[in-house]
Amino acid sequence: VAKLQPVRGTHDLIGDEARSHLAIAGAAREIAERYGFAPMATPIFEFTEVFQRTLGDTSDIVTKEMYTFEDKGGNSLTLRPEGTAGVARAFISGGLQNELPLKCFYHGPMFRHERPQKGRQRQFHQFGVELIGVAEPTADVEVIAMAADILDTLGILSETTLELNTLGDAQSKEQYREALVAYFSGVSDKLSEESRDRLVRNPLRILDSKDAGDRALLADAPRFDDYMTEEAAAFFAAVQDGLETVGVAFKRNPHIVRGLDYYSHTAFEFTTEALGAQGTVLAGGRYDGLIETMGGPRTPGVGWGAGLERLAMMIDAAPAVTRAITLVGLGEAGEREALRLSGVLRHAGLTVELVYKGGLKRGLKRADRINAAVAVLIGDDELERGTVTVRNLDTGEQSDVAIADLKDHLAAYR
Ligand code: ATP
Ligand code: MG
Repeated sequence: VAKLQPVRGTHDLIGDEARSHLAIAGAAREIAERYGFAPMATPIFEFTEVFQRTLGDTSDIVTKEMYTFEDKGGNSLTLRPEGTAGVARAFISGGLQNELPLKCFYHGPMFRHERPQKGRQRQFHQFGVELIGVAEPTADVEVIAMAADILDTLGILSETTLELNTLGDAQSKEQYREALVAYFSGVSDKLSEESRDRLVRNPLRILDSKDAGDRALLADAPRFDDYMTEEAAAFFAAVQDGLETVGVAFKRNPHIVRGLDYYSHTAFEFTTEALGAQGTVLAGGRYDGLIETMGGPRTPGVGWGAGLERLAMMIDAAPAVTRAITLVGLGEAGEREALRLSGVLRHAGLTVELVYKGGLKRGLKRADRINAAVAVLIGDDELERGTVTVRNLDTGEQSDVAIADLKDHLAAYR
């Protein structure tokens, strides 16, 4: 029979890699909780409509990247490509309007059918946060500061740049859209095919085109700041002031547009040079129009999502693990006593590796392989005396320890 293969664009997390994901999510969770955010876990699939309504029919995700299937009941379902849609759907269907502001974080797999490459998979993982119900710029500042704190805790903040932009309010956006359409229509023969398509469907997206020809045209394109309403400009100024107040450095980048219609005001990305083409590690923005678009009450929101694979690639060291105490039972009575002691020591907070069979040599080999700190040798002779042999595997030092004292003797290894 043919060997089973993982699905293209998926990846098994094993050992240090799995540990690294948990460590990143754990560190992010700790910071998020410090900011008063609570965990939320929404389903991994939703009715397809949830994403269509949230992301809009012109987004890359909806047009090209969704894993959509029909279930046995004939429903069209989609594996979540991102986290905000599910949280917004939960907010609406759960009637959480009275819980505002709603501050939550989530972590888990996301699915997008795109071309796999370094830092780009079809199943990947995100940690994300949403702050729903606050229209004030302080909310934008707070979620961005939280993102910076998380990157700092992970030791990678200095390798990233916070790129900040504003999309203004609906009026600013509409005025700018018209100006952009007028400008690009005049030079449309020079646009890439993709951007010509965007000109009709989503002209703002031309601004983040990666095509060199498009980018050259951008130099003379109308500037958003000339079309911003006074209110939108004041909001953006307040966000920038706030970031200065909390000491988060940023760089204005007018090309960050985040593609989706419901975004307004703040848009941002933490980018890095360290990962080649897939340089955005964390991205987010304000989505004041989203919940209304989905059929809920008009409710503002702001949030971000970060790719764990990309964060993990930026962190060199594997997370620290507690070194184990290896219990090697020699003979039948010794094995039974090892099993009993494994419970006693684990309940006392120690990390214990029980060697299942195979005598002294195999036991010590296993201890070496897992980089155990100590081996406890439990043989018949010792058992008769009520003792075990404790060997420090770094120094080779050995001592007899009374079984009754073992737990306390090993307390330093907790
Ligand atoms: P990109 O421009 O790289 O396609 P995006 O704009 O589609 O990113 P978002 O939807 O903003 O990405 O998702 C937030 C973060 O999730 C990204 O910054 C990235 O770290 C991560 N991410 C998105 N798509 C993938 C993927 N296919 N594989 C791995 N990580 C991803
Ligand atoms: Mg993408």
